[in-house]
Amino acid sequence: MQSEIITVGSELLAGETVDLHSSYLSRELHSLGIDVQFHTSVGDDAQKLHDVISLARTRSQLIFLCGGLGPTMDDLTKETVSEVTGVPLVEDPEVKRRLEKYFEGRMKVVPANNYKQTYVFSGGVVFQNHHGTAPGLALQVDGITYVLLPGPPGELVPMFEKQVRPFLLREVIQEGQVILAESLSFFGLGESLLEEKIADLIRQQDNPVLATYAKESGVMLRITAWAPDEAEARQLIDRQKAKVLTRIGEYCYSEQGETLEEVVVAGLIRHQKTVAVAESCTGGKLAHLLTSVPGSSRAFKGGWVTYTNEVKEKIASVPAEYLNEYGAISAQTAELMARNTLECFDSDFALGVTGVAGPDPAEGKPVGTVYIGLAEKGQPVRVYQFALKGSRRRIQLLAANHALFVLEQCLKKGETTR
Ligand code: ATP
Repeated sequence: MQSEIITVGSELLAGETVDLHSSYLSRELHSLGIDVQFHTSVGDDAQKLHDVISLARTRSQLIFLCGGLGPTMDDLTKETVSEVTGVPLVEDPEVKRRLEKYFEGRMKVVPANNYKQTYVFSGGVVFQNHHGTAPGLALQVDGITYVLLPGPPGELVPMFEKQVRPFLLREVIQEGQVILAESLSFFGLGESLLEEKIADLIRQQDNPVLATYAKESGVMLRITAWAPDEAEARQLIDRQKAKVLTRIGEYCYSEQGETLEEVVVAGLIRHQKTVAVAESCTGGKLAHLLTSVPGSSRAFKGGWVTYTNEVKEKIASVPAEYLNEYGAISAQTAELMARNTLECFDSDFALGVTGVAGPDPAEGKPVGTVYIGLAEKGQPVRVYQFALKGSRRRIQLLAANHALFVLEQCLKKGETTR
C-alpha cells in the first residue's frame, strides 16, 4: 500500500515550526508495514492544498493530512478534502455536545467559529479529541483512505496511538494480521546500488514489503511482512531475507540494527582479538567510534593520531624516505602505519588510515582518496584504496567506517591472506 503525508500550515513553510508529524507518522506507518512514499508541506492556501490533495489521490491509497482543522478561516483541510472528493460535511451531534462541554468546563461560551469544528464527513469516521477541540477524521472513498489529524503534537500523537492505529489495523490493514519487521544494515554500497541489485524484490511491494533508508553512513533495508500468525509472517521474512542476502549478503553487517562499531567490537571480543589504530585523515574518529561501544576496552588497545609527517615519522615509524618517495597519502604509508602500530601495541589487528579529507587536493591526489592498511598478526598487511565523496566531515566519517568495515569483513570471513 502506497501512502503519503501532507502537513498543512504556513508556519511550516516559514520555518517557524519544525515538522514533527511527518517523521512520527512515517515511523509509525512503517512499523505497520505501510510504505510512505511522499512528505509534502503546504501553506494555508485553498488552491495549493487542493492541488496537493488532487495529486496525492493519483498515487496513494492512504493519505494523511495534519493540521488545518482549527476554527479559523485559514483552517481549510477538511473543507478542501470535501471539495476534492465530493463528500459533503455534516454536523455531528456528538462532536457538538463534546465541544459545548469542553467550553462549559472552562466557564466559557463556545465561540461561533468553533462550531465549524462540529462538521465531519458524511459517512466518515470521527476520532474524538481528548486534548483539544478539533476532532480527527477519516474518510474512505474511491479506494482511498484519508486521515485528517489536528496539528498540535499533544493532540495528534495520542489520537494516533489510541484511535488511528486501531482504525488502520481494523479497516485498512485487515484485522487479525500479525505484522513483523526486520532490518538489515549494509555498508559499502550506496542506496541506489542496493536498490538496483534488489529492484525486482522492492518493486513487488506485496508481502513482504521492502523499503530502503539511507543512514548517516550505510543503508538500512527493512523487510515487513504480515500474516494470520507470527510463524507465517516469520517464514515470509526469512524467505525474502535469504533472497536479499544471496545477492548482497557480503555488504550486510547486521541483522539486528547494530552499528558497525558495535559489530566490530562484538566480533573482536567473540574471537578474543584486539585492535589498535593509527589515524591521519580521520583525526581520531576511528578510535572514537570504537570506544563509544560499551565494553570496548576488551577489544580496543589504543591508537594514535599521526597527523603531520613529522609525527608519522617519529611515532608511527614511517621513514622520511618513504614519505618523500611515496607521499603521506599512499598505500605504502598506510601499510607501514598499520604494521608498526600492530607491533608497538602488540595487538592482533591494526588499522592505518591516511587520505585527503579536503576541501583541497593534497600531494596531487584528489579529495576523498583514502588508503586503509589492515595488519593482522602473522599475515601480510592488506591495503585498500577508496575514492570517497562528500564534505570533509563526511569523508572523515566514511573513511573511519570503511576501516571498521574492512576489519568486520576480515573477522567475518576469517580471511588470512591478501
Ligand atoms: P488548532 O485547533 O490548534 O488550530 P489545527 O489542526 O488547525 O489545530 P494548526 O493550526 O495547523 O492545527 O496547528 C496548530 C499548532 O500545531 C501549530 O501552531 C504548531 O505549533 C503545531 N503543528 C502543526 N503542524 C505541525 C507539524 N507538522 N509538526 C509539528 N507541530 C505542528
